[in-house]
Amino acid sequence: MKFLINWSRQNKWIESNLKDAHQVGEYWVTNEYSNHSRYCSKQGLMLAGDAYCFLDPVFSSGLMLALKSGVMAADAIDSGLIENDLTPARFMSYARTLRDGINNMRILVCAFYSEGFTFKALIDRFPNLAGDVTDCLSGDINKDYTSLHEAIATMVPIPKKMELGMPLNT
Ligand SMILES: Cc1cc2nc3c(=O)[nH]c(=O)nc-3n(C[C@H](O)[C@H](O)[C@H](O)COP(=O)(O)OP(=O)(O)OC[C@H]3O[C@@H](n4cnc5c(N)ncnc54)[C@H](O)[C@@H]3O)c2cc1C
Repeated sequence: MKFLINWSRQNKWIESNLKDAHQVGEYWVTNEYSNHSRYCSKQGLMLAGDAYCFLDPVFSSGLMLALKSGVMAADAIDSGLIENDLTPARFMSYARTLRDGINNMRILVCAFYSEGFTFKALIDRFPNLAGDVTDCLSGDINKDYTSLHEAIATMVPIPKKMELGMPLNT
């Protein structure tokens, strides 16, 4: 709490916008935005976008994942309707692809927040991987990023793959 109040005084824009305001309650700080659903689907229900996962606010992954998972979910449901099978198990491939992509992007996000890591330092050491970084951050999340992950692992620890988001009851 004190952190926000002090910070608001150090930030000219916030200070000037709050100067005539009357505080009516406590200040609250929001953090820990990331979440991942335990399952992606059950009978009659399928999750996409924020309902499936929210990775991080910095990289604008929210809209990208919402749009990407929306298209993927629509394709999976469409083929399920054609084959008259909408059981949760049907959406295994949807879940795997989406989760693998999110895990790929999550490695970059976690590196970004790790002390001692910068994308500049990574690219200075591994200039051939610049394209992989921009591909992943711009939404091509299901490429093979093994070389990129190995390079990042020489600088900071890589998070364990999340084993979440599969269909329920499969
Ligand atoms: C302040 C803020 C800033 C952000 N900035 C960015 C950014 O710069 N770049 C970026 O990529 N992402 C950003 N995000 C994240 C991004 O907005 C979300 O990740 C994205 O909108 C998720 O899309 P969605 O379709 O999954 O969910 P939503 O956009 O939340 O859509 C869900 C919709 O379902 C509706 N709904 C809920 N319950 C029901 C119900 N029972 N019946 C019918 N409708 C229902 C809701 O009203 C809503 O319209 C930001 C988020 C916030 C809060």
